[in-house]
Amino acid sequence: MDYALPDLPETIWIDTHCHLYLEPFQHDLHEVIARAQSRGVGMLIVPGIDLETSQAAVALSEHYPTVFAAVGVHPNYATSWNSRTLAELRALCTHSKVVAIGEIGLDYYRNYAPPELQQAILTAQLNLAAERGLPVILHQRASFQDLQRIIGQWVESLHFSHASAKPSMGVFHAFEGDLDEMTWITRLGFCLGLAGSITYRTHERTQAIIQNMPLEMLVLETDSPYLTPIPYRGKRNEPSNLVLVAEKICALRDIPLKELACITSTNATRLFNLPQYWSLL
Ligand SMILES: [Zn+2]
Repeated sequence: MDYALPDLPETIWIDTHCHLYLEPFQHDLHEVIARAQSRGVGMLIVPGIDLETSQAAVALSEHYPTVFAAVGVHPNYATSWNSRTLAELRALCTHSKVVAIGEIGLDYYRNYAPPELQQAILTAQLNLAAERGLPVILHQRASFQDLQRIIGQWVESLHFSHASAKPSMGVFHAFEGDLDEMTWITRLGFCLGLAGSITYRTHERTQAIIQNMPLEMLVLETDSPYLTPIPYRGKRNEPSNLVLVAEKICALRDIPLKELACITSTNATRLFNLPQYWSLL
């Protein structure tokens, strides 16, 4: 394989998506972060789901050197959006540990907010990401066609002078789509985030697709406290379980863990413009 292996500690993993401000972590967050660290999950990205949790994510990033924040309003919380939300998010973006706009997107499965409202706040937040030069963390459920149209138009509006000048624009988090979706996403320059759901027996299609995924577009995540991998399904998920997601991918691709750690940590570092792990210690 002709992928240049960079100079990173070989077993450092990056959990690119965990909601550590939620209630299940209220009593033992310190232990959760220490346990992740002890298993090599060295950096964590915490995305907000509304303004309040975005502020909480930033506060966590101030407290823990290895935690980074993303700020945004999730489509399921679209009705929390008001005339001040965009300005508040814009102010949060100036924080040095805010590395992305997210979690944003469309969710027609839960349908907690009208699709028109979801689309309007998604577009507002995509424009904020472009303005700030930040990548986006995208959530999608039963809404791929509309998301594809909106993201396609957004990328076109960014006017890259040359295809190779395209920066890393974002990630489709907890990807469970089909081969056509995977191909469209990666050709557009977006990463695919893989979570614990890939370990479920019902996810054979995703497991087959993983065998064809371009490794340079792959990042790992837990989506803690959700999507707990096998064999802990049913319990609270936490970042230390990222290694179980990695082991499943390595089994499907027949590559060593060290290689996957190196590749996915490099991808996440590039996508979110993260510092080198050793510089945080
Ligand atoms: Zn999430």
